[in-house]
Amino acid sequence: MRNIAPQEGLVERAYWLIRLRWIAVAGVVLTVLFVEKVVNVPLESFALYAIAVAIGLYNSAFFSYLNRIRKTNPPNPATIVNRVANVQISSDLLSLTALIHFSGGVENPFIFYFIFHVIIASILLTRRASYFQATFAVFLFISMVNLEYFNVLRHYSLKGFIDSSLYANSIYVSGISLVFISTLYLAVYMASSISVKLRQREKSLEEANLLLEEKDRIKSNYVLRVSHDIKEHLSTIQGCLDPVLQELTGELNSGQKDLIRRAVHRTGKLTFFVKALLEITRIKLSREIEMSRFSLRKTIDNTVNFVEAKAKDKDIAFNYNLDPGVDVIKGAQVYIEETIANLLANSVKYTPRGGKVDMEIRDRGDSVLIQVSDTGIGIPKVDIPNIFGEFYRAGNARALERDGTGLGLAIAKEVVERHNGKIWVESVEGKGSIFSILLPK
Ligand code: ADP
Repeated sequence: MRNIAPQEGLVERAYWLIRLRWIAVAGVVLTVLFVEKVVNVPLESFALYAIAVAIGLYNSAFFSYLNRIRKTNPPNPATIVNRVANVQISSDLLSLTALIHFSGGVENPFIFYFIFHVIIASILLTRRASYFQATFAVFLFISMVNLEYFNVLRHYSLKGFIDSSLYANSIYVSGISLVFISTLYLAVYMASSISVKLRQREKSLEEANLLLEEKDRIKSNYVLRVSHDIKEHLSTIQGCLDPVLQELTGELNSGQKDLIRRAVHRTGKLTFFVKALLEITRIKLSREIEMSRFSLRKTIDNTVNFVEAKAKDKDIAFNYNLDPGVDVIKGAQVYIEETIANLLANSVKYTPRGGKVDMEIRDRGDSVLIQVSDTGIGIPKVDIPNIFGEFYRAGNARALERDGTGLGLAIAKEVVERHNGKIWVESVEGKGSIFSILLPK
């Protein structure tokens, strides 16, 4: 089986280890207190607390080191974090050995906590490194047990818990060591087999995802080329039809005029559709969109002017309220303007005569909340989850308005997400809709 080093998410896992260690520090302190005060077994509490403090100190050091790595963003963070994880696990094994030594050595039932460390190693590290850590754990354990057995190191008994001197009993010590070693290696074997398989699956999913993204790019490039060509041809057709309709090429009878007018109308609609298609494809293909600081207040004024006239034509009451705190934000002005105009235009389009459309722009500290609400036809519940999808139009909208690209909301979503914002809708069919955009400043 291939030995894949865990790359992605390694930093997160290293932070996870740090969080676990804080729990361990608290666990040591509480266990010492419990054993001494409740179980009444005297312990070397000074040494045990000192080890807990040492664990806390090196945990803080690892925490700030990881933060630094994250900030400086070095070229090979995975290698560095891998090394840090190795050092962290080795330090934990040393600390655990010290804790066990000062609290009964081989007689302490917590010796099996070494298993947790080798399981963590198997999750975080490569298989080889996990076996290395398990061997290090075995080395520490066997050294401690033997040094105590041969009285090179003092043995601290757990008086009141285990009174007999098992640490000096060669059969007990050998038996425990054998079980300990086999358990540790079995744990590494099982845990690392599972995590290697999971990593391989994760990797193949990532590869499949990259492939899909690449295919999507190829498709988008194709759509871009084709729609660009179509747009050129359409504009030539429009250029030919206009003078004919204006009778610059000779007088037309009413039948001819009607036919040409219909052709111009349809060409206009098609051009509008192709432009929307070009736009969404361009945004999707561009890895980054250019952003600058601009006044959202002025941008909103522009869009409002455009919508007010349309609302008036349909006898729709349009009101808007702009929080005085809202002004300059960072983003792609043209796209933001277009997105807001699109929501307003939709509200006017899908609200019957005599209805109401309102826009509310509120300051939310780091972001701005833009809400467009209407008393229109609303969106059927079944359509709401798909409404931001490309070319999607709800049945009631089709019935009311035959023409529509189904691209406006898809573009709006793409634009908002490129700004790290959120867009959503709340709607009741027959009552109206509220479209909301949360845009970081
Ligand atoms: P289009 O309006 O061209 O159909 P959009 O992408 O702008 O395309 O909108 C997609 C669909 O979302 C619409 O077809 C309609 O079903 C629904 N929709 C959008 N805005 C509203 C609204 N204000 N009220 C009701 N339905 C809406």
